[in-house]
Amino acid sequence: MATPVPEIQNAKFPFHDDPSNNGDQDFAVLRSSDLCDFLVYKPFLCFAKDSFFRGLFSGAQALEYKNGLPVARLEEKSDVIRDLLLLCYPGKAPTFEATELERPADPVKHIVNVLRTAEKYCLMSEELSGRVDEALMASPVIEWAPYRVYAIGVRYRLKSVCLRAAKNSLAEALHSDWADEMNEITAMDLLALQSYQNEVKMTVRRFYETVQNGDSYWIDARDLPFTLTTNLHSLEAKGHSKECIQSFLRCDVKIFAHEDDSGGPYIAHYHIPTWFDDYINGVATLCETRMDWKAFTNSKLISTAVNCGTKNCPTCLSDGSSAALKMAAWAACFHDIIQSYSESKVPQLKLTF
Ligand SMILES: [Zn+2]
Repeated sequence: MATPVPEIQNAKFPFHDDPSNNGDQDFAVLRSSDLCDFLVYKPFLCFAKDSFFRGLFSGAQALEYKNGLPVARLEEKSDVIRDLLLLCYPGKAPTFEATELERPADPVKHIVNVLRTAEKYCLMSEELSGRVDEALMASPVIEWAPYRVYAIGVRYRLKSVCLRAAKNSLAEALHSDWADEMNEITAMDLLALQSYQNEVKMTVRRFYETVQNGDSYWIDARDLPFTLTTNLHSLEAKGHSKECIQSFLRCDVKIFAHEDDSGGPYIAHYHIPTWFDDYINGVATLCETRMDWKAFTNSKLISTAVNCGTKNCPTCLSDGSSAALKMAAWAACFHDIIQSYSESKVPQLKLTF
């Protein structure tokens, strides 16, 4: 009985089988170990000076041909070959999510495999590093596996990837995603990350101590989700309930306010409601304990604050749902302000390369 011939698949766009390229000297076929044929445009794989493919394509006759094109068998599987080729090709960089149907079980390991394969075939170059940088910055893994991506960034000397991963690491515990990649970096690299984290933490703490002291409540007064007033009587005239106005009474602090018409920031005394003070303190606690930058837009904190702020007042309640939206929008802007404030105070991540 004859042994069944294994079936060879054709890769998907942009490496699909295109008969118009049959016999074209500029094209070749790369066959993965799981028998998937990638039709490749040779110049895109030969940009690196030492590219393995330069020798392969310019060398002796191939052992095998398909539609008049030489076939090279590679040891890697198709998911790795595909992302490697996408890095080499111009256009959209891969997101490292592999094919549409199959997500790799461990996308970070997949990235490492792709990069090691790039090294193996001597494709690493300034251009390819730029592409890897672009791909990692756009990939979701930099959000949920920041320590591992930091290690990859150090390994391949990608400064912006390291910094973004370091920022994302603020909300993650060190051991939550410890893995093999960490073996590739030195104690100095890890120390650089930890001192960055400590500096950010200290800056956030200093900022909130200032807030607690009440001497410069650093609030962006634009689009605040409540009536900003220096005069409580005006609240009564607008139909706010007694309880609502009383809650304003409890906080009398300075606000660092931006005024659109004056063209610059100034400091003034305003009344703010207790629920808003609670929200800011809730954010401070989350930032300090978990170093969670996303605390500003934490939906639980926002909904608790808005519910508290509106429940005892017909004027505030009538505007309840839009108040929640306004609060979320305001919180997102405030988050950006605090983050850029903190970053302006924090020394750069001191990388060893
Ligand atoms: Zn009210």
